[in-house]
Amino acid sequence: MAEAQSTSAGGAGENGNPAQLPSYEEQRRSAPVLLSEEAQRIRWRLNGPLTTAITVMEHPRIDPGNAVFEPYYHGLGGNGVESWHPFSQSPYTTPKVSSVTIWVDPLDEWISHWLQQHQFHVREGDYNPATTRFGPLPGPGEERDDVTSYEEETGRRLEACCGSERPVNKGTKVVVRAATGGFLTIHDFLSTVHPYLMNRRADIVAAMHAEQYRGIPVPAEDGLFVDPMYSNPHSLTLMDEAEWLKNHRKPGLRVAQDAATQARLRHLAPKMRASSEQAIAILQARQRAAEAATRTLSSLGLGDVAN
Ligand SMILES: [Zn+2]
Repeated sequence: MAEAQSTSAGGAGENGNPAQLPSYEEQRRSAPVLLSEEAQRIRWRLNGPLTTAITVMEHPRIDPGNAVFEPYYHGLGGNGVESWHPFSQSPYTTPKVSSVTIWVDPLDEWISHWLQQHQFHVREGDYNPATTRFGPLPGPGEERDDVTSYEEETGRRLEACCGSERPVNKGTKVVVRAATGGFLTIHDFLSTVHPYLMNRRADIVAAMHAEQYRGIPVPAEDGLFVDPMYSNPHSLTLMDEAEWLKNHRKPGLRVAQDAATQARLRHLAPKMRASSEQAIAILQARQRAAEAATRTLSSLGLGDVAN
């Protein structure tokens, strides 16, 4: 049974403040931690900067033909400060936590997929020595996480097979913390994880190719969507838009909102209406600017080039 006042058993506490919320990992020892209602409405494309990659849906599940995707970034406010959708300050999880260590499916499963495929080649003697390389096992004090029992038995480590290098240290182990020391918000999460994953897109795609029994095509780097898991919000899966839509298309199971979530959404409603009007105004202004640019081009006889 978990103690109410457990003191950073997971080593997550930085300043030892006893009032600090538990980390995701601590909280999960006593109760489930789910993706918050607001976080379920995030549509996260792994392409471009945070200002354009994220949009917000009306519901976690949508009718693709009639869905409204509100911008997450609302431009610079009058004070010159970046302004974001009100959901940006909502908790990432229910209940709230102070930090979370992420797991990214393709990256964190890469080594096991690779070993599954190529260790089999070695065991069966079905490999080409010209494109295969062995090395010594890690010495004492060195990282041994990915050494298999077969490697322990044979005393040699598979470093490359079929011309493919063993993916070493390709996991994530990224800890995302609440920026203000309170609870982890959607913006804390996205502003840390989005740029991180953008930098690792090539690895993500390579890791997906290493999945031997993957039944569906691997998306292009610029076609990736990120989907946090509802009942494991630390776990991020990656897929193309069609797969993402399968997870978010209506009709689907509606998640019951607890009283705290309902109260929070009621409180946010006026703010959301205002921000929605602001976002629509920005979109309309952008559209007017685009139309004006097209008119200028066509007055110069370049109209077709713009298409
Ligand atoms: Zn192989």
